[in-house]
Amino acid sequence: MVPAALRSVTFLTNAIVLICFIWVYTWLNRDATLPLIRRWRLPLTILLTVAFLIFFHASSLLNIANQDYPVGYGWTYLNFQIITVYFALLATHRPAMLLTLEVVVGTWFIWMSGGAWSGVIGLTLLALAVVYLGRRILTASATLYMGFGVMFALPFFFINWIKLGGIDVGWGPQFGYLVLLYLMLWAVTRYLQRRAAREAKLAHDAAVDAMTGLNNFASFDRDLQAAYRRFQATGEQYALFTFDIDHFKAINDRYGHLAGNAVLTTVGTTTRQKTRASAFNAKTYRTGGEEFSILFFAIDDDRNRALAFSRDLADTIAALAFDFATPPIHVTISLGEDRIQATDQNYLDLYRRADAYLYGAKHSGRDALTVRGELHRRAHA
Ligand code: GH3
Ligand code: MG
Ligand code: MG
Repeated sequence: MVPAALRSVTFLTNAIVLICFIWVYTWLNRDATLPLIRRWRLPLTILLTVAFLIFFHASSLLNIANQDYPVGYGWTYLNFQIITVYFALLATHRPAMLLTLEVVVGTWFIWMSGGAWSGVIGLTLLALAVVYLGRRILTASATLYMGFGVMFALPFFFINWIKLGGIDVGWGPQFGYLVLLYLMLWAVTRYLQRRAAREAKLAHDAAVDAMTGLNNFASFDRDLQAAYRRFQATGEQYALFTFDIDHFKAINDRYGHLAGNAVLTTVGTTTRQKTRASAFNAKTYRTGGEEFSILFFAIDDDRNRALAFSRDLADTIAALAFDFATPPIHVTISLGEDRIQATDQNYLDLYRRADAYLYGAKHSGRDALTVRGELHRRAHA
């Protein structure tokens, strides 16, 4: 039996090492912004994991040699190795990670057992795949996470026990520390899950308009810049449609702001549906109070198509019937459209042009479209 004090100290020291591993791991996968690290993220993550497994293994061998105590300490380190494998399989859901760990664990098992116990080896390699594939189920509940974790450790214990000739390792503390480690790992996993969910929500809230669910102005500005950069680099063309609801203030004034909000939401979702139905890659934005914009990416320059889309959109919006009033009311839009041009000096030039076209449509008496600088009145059905 290993003296309890030595076992505890070994456990505590390595718990700190494990926390460092998880911290570096998380930094590498979530927080690192250096382009070089982002580019090599997966290989670095795999390297880090294997390095820690080797570190625990070497520590175990050194301890055994140093203390002239051939059994025992290795068991404490074994817990850490099992935990590292479990954590890495759940945290990095990539085939390369599974493959690497299958090879590392397989090699360790063959080395430990001298090639015997192939059934146990097969079962262990299968268990690795189960953890990898069952990530969602295993990380959804503490019982499953820890229950499967403890079962996952059994073949490792078995092979180690066989290798050491069936010694008494002190199963109580061995399992006790394993469960303690799984508890710690579960707490960390939960914390990371919650943090990821919080970050995703923040990113969503920063990019999406809360009322309509459309992309907001910040997204628009970002996407417009990115599209301009792509155009400069590759010549990929894009078009901007921007429109404003006519006499919208009158709806607020007569029916209240909630009615106005309902109009904005319906016009927004209708526009998004129309945009999604088109053949091009496109995004819809609420760029102002009652102003919406659409970016069409990777277009081929086609004035007729732009006009057809504008007409269809304006007709569809005009056909919407809002029944908070009797008889139901309708709204019209004024729209400006243009595509990027080689003479544009910066990313805002296109927006400036489309916006000026929109106001051209307004000043012509509203319910009109200015596509590529040409004014079109909507043909009334
Ligand atoms: P025009 O045809 O010239 O565009 O006239 P308009 O009345 O549509 O334009 P104006 O700029 O005079 O009024 C826009 C109104 O949109 C004023 C503002 O109160 C309203 N508005 C802006 N954001 C919201 C919103 O989120 N909800 C509601 N209900 N109204 C909004
Ligand atoms: Mg308006
Ligand atoms: Mg407006």
